[in-house]
Amino acid sequence: MNKSTDKALNSVLVWLRRDLRTEDHAALHHACTTAEQVWCAFIFDRDIVDSLPRADRRVEFIHDSLEQVHAQLAAWGEAHGNKGVGLIVRHAVAATEIPRLAAQLEVQAVYVAHDDEPAALARDANVRTALAADGRAWHSFKDHVVFERSEVLTLASKPYSVFTPFKNAWLKKVDADHLSALEVAPHAARLAALPAHMSAHGSSQTQGGVPSLESLGFQRTNLHELKIPVGQEGGHILLADFLQRINDYEDTRNFPAVKGPSYLSVHLRFGTVSIRELAREAWARTQAGSRGAEIWLSELIWRDFYHQILHHNPRVVGASFKPEYDAIEWEQGDHAKRLFAAFCEGRTGYPLVDAAMAQINQTGYMHNRLRMVVASFLVKDLGLDWRWGEAYFALHLNDFDLAANNGGWQWAASTGCDAQPYFRIFNPTAQSEKFDAKGKFIRRYLPQLAALPDAALHAPWLAKPVELAAAGIVIGRDYPAPIVKHDEARALTLARYAVVKSKA
Ligand code: FAD
Repeated sequence: MNKSTDKALNSVLVWLRRDLRTEDHAALHHACTTAEQVWCAFIFDRDIVDSLPRADRRVEFIHDSLEQVHAQLAAWGEAHGNKGVGLIVRHAVAATEIPRLAAQLEVQAVYVAHDDEPAALARDANVRTALAADGRAWHSFKDHVVFERSEVLTLASKPYSVFTPFKNAWLKKVDADHLSALEVAPHAARLAALPAHMSAHGSSQTQGGVPSLESLGFQRTNLHELKIPVGQEGGHILLADFLQRINDYEDTRNFPAVKGPSYLSVHLRFGTVSIRELAREAWARTQAGSRGAEIWLSELIWRDFYHQILHHNPRVVGASFKPEYDAIEWEQGDHAKRLFAAFCEGRTGYPLVDAAMAQINQTGYMHNRLRMVVASFLVKDLGLDWRWGEAYFALHLNDFDLAANNGGWQWAASTGCDAQPYFRIFNPTAQSEKFDAKGKFIRRYLPQLAALPDAALHAPWLAKPVELAAAGIVIGRDYPAPIVKHDEARALTLARYAVVKSKA
């Protein structure tokens, strides 16, 4: 259900998942306006975190963001003369821990924000059943997107599968109410301290507060060295910075060496910013005539678009949106594995691709233009299955989001809804010349090529011997020769995709 019940509840547990903030928060707002006592919990879900590498920037980001949530809840508690308010954090299997915690707290209901990923829906169904068996309710609210599920449909009441009409319908539907904040602070007196029978145990599993990262079995990463600001505070810092640049977004967003985009994706992923706040800012500036804000708002709408695609088509997890594209035969065997390893390790011989892969490997972020370039390269130059690239991104992106990642890969592979036509094949050298003309981005991530002149940087294997010698570069020793020839690969790809044409 999407609306909170009118009947006042005695007590509610808010289970945080993709909404790791305390302001403009759907589940917290509804809990604090309907219940007398409200507790908040986060579970490091063993079903998810136990299979991750022991150093994972996302886990660290979540961990450090939760510390801010805990501090804010505690501060509100203090302000209302309510000592001992805070976040309950556990390292357990969420599907069993939430019903157990609800029983310990003796709450009448658990409140959450919707999570429409198929695995999350299955987990939530189990939790809901277990709660119901104990006579407890489950209330779930939209929080992660502006419009979700079937809120934006065609005139024939069908889900959209083409972006532009979806965007037009989205823009027609949106109003100030959709974007207004769901306040928590005015209702924070409802936040309750842990009951004595729970806090008395004294272990980090039962007390409020965030256990150390190490006690969860994780090590620190380079997250803070990279100056990725965490939590709600970090989200606000990035937003304030971006709002000073938003009017230039159209001109700057495609150049990876330029500080053009917002870098808010990891915050959107974990809900350390509110999508309503971002869309509100962009919408107001769009109405005031900012072209940059209009384009940025479109990107936020792409995000809603892919979320509703996943909701209506969960089969896109693992299969092409356009089923006829599943007939394509991708490269297989040892040769394919070698190509994939070179791709992942940034050894393709195409500098822009290799620099982009260095960016994701070193930072967990990749610029949107580069995501498009490398995804196209994997599928249409190397002839590899888009699912291999999707899985690599899923493991390495700080902002990994199933809906957007799947949508992005299927767009590049031409298998998705409203995708790039299959015969449109990015030329990685031309992309490099266009979007990193002076090689600033390439030089940042491939210092071994730094001494080459700008013009030679995009295709070092074509550089004059004298230029290579002057830069101290031997192709094959200091930097790889290209692992495929783009023109040959292009022809092979067109042949590979012909199977689709013949089926259409
Ligand atoms: P900005 O340019 O500031 O955009 C603002 C926000 O709009 C982003 O944070 C994001 O939430 C949303 N957005 C922008 N572009 C898109 C898009 N094409 N699709 C959906 N949402 C968009 N985005 C993710 O959040 N997670 C992913 O796992 C992801 N995987 C991708 C994989 C591929 C192959 C491609 C081509 C794109 C992928 N994207 C993904 C979309 C996009 O590249 C990132 O959202 C963007 O680069 C994040 O940087 P930013 O926050 O600075 O973006």
